[in-house]
Amino acid sequence: MPISNAKRILLKLSGEVLMGEQEFGIDPAFVSELAGEVKQARDAGWEICLVIGGGNIFRGMAGAAQGMDRAQADYMGMLATVMNALAMQSALEQLGVPTRVQSAVQMDQVCEPVIRRRAERHLEKGRIVIFAAGVGAPYFTTDSGAALRAAEMRCDALFKGTSVDGVYDSDPKKNADAKRYDSVTYDKVLADNLKVMDASAVALCRDNNIPIVVFSIREKGNLARVLAGQGAQTIVRND
Ligand code: UDP
Repeated sequence: MPISNAKRILLKLSGEVLMGEQEFGIDPAFVSELAGEVKQARDAGWEICLVIGGGNIFRGMAGAAQGMDRAQADYMGMLATVMNALAMQSALEQLGVPTRVQSAVQMDQVCEPVIRRRAERHLEKGRIVIFAAGVGAPYFTTDSGAALRAAEMRCDALFKGTSVDGVYDSDPKKNADAKRYDSVTYDKVLADNLKVMDASAVALCRDNNIPIVVFSIREKGNLARVLAGQGAQTIVRND
C-alpha cells in the first residue's frame, strides 16, 4: 500500500549497502548505481532528504566493545557518515543531480552545517540534501538522525533502505520460518524489540506520526517499486 499524498521523503541508507560486495568501505561502482536510483526518484518528483549510515567504515559500539571510549568511538562513527555522504554527493553530481551536504558536526571546508531553513531552500530548488553526522551527538545512531531530520524537514515518510526486505517476527537469517510483516505498529516494534531501527528513532517517528517503510535497497530498481507502493516492504505506523 503506497504512502498516499507523500511528496517529501527522508531516505535512510545503511552504510553497509555502500560496500556493494566488499567486506568494508566504499565501492564507488555500487554507490554510483545507488545514486542512479536516487536520481530516478528525484526525477519522478520526490523531494529527497538523504541520510547515510557509517557502518561500512566504523561503528561506535564495535569500537567500544574493543575497549575504546564509547563517546570517542561514536565521534569516529559520525566522521564515517560524513565520508559516505561525500561519496554519495560525488556520485549524484556525476549524474547531474545538484546536492548539498549538511553535517551535524561542523566542517566548514567540507560541507554546510545543518541549517533547516537553508535545507528547505535547497529542496525547493530541486537539490537533494544529504544530512551527515547523525544528530551530532554520541550514543545515537544515524537512524535517530534520520528520524530527527524527517521530523524537522516535515517529511511525509521515512524510507529505510537496508539489506533486508522488511521487518520480520524473528531474524530471517537464523530462522527459516520467520514471517515478514506487511504492516506493523510502532508500539509492537518497541514492545517486541523487533529489529527495525533503534528504539529512540522509532519513538520519534511514532510521536510525530511519520510512517517508516523498511525495504531492501540491494535489489536493483527496488526504490522506485517501493515508492510506488509495490514490492516487498514493511510499513511501520500507528494503525
Ligand atoms: N553516530 C553517533 N551519533 C549519531 C549518528 C552516528 O554517535 O547521531 C555514530 C555511532 O557510533 C554509529 C556510527 O556513527 O555506530 C555509524 O552510524 P550507524 O551505526 O547508524 O550506521 P549504519 O548502521 O546505518 O550504517
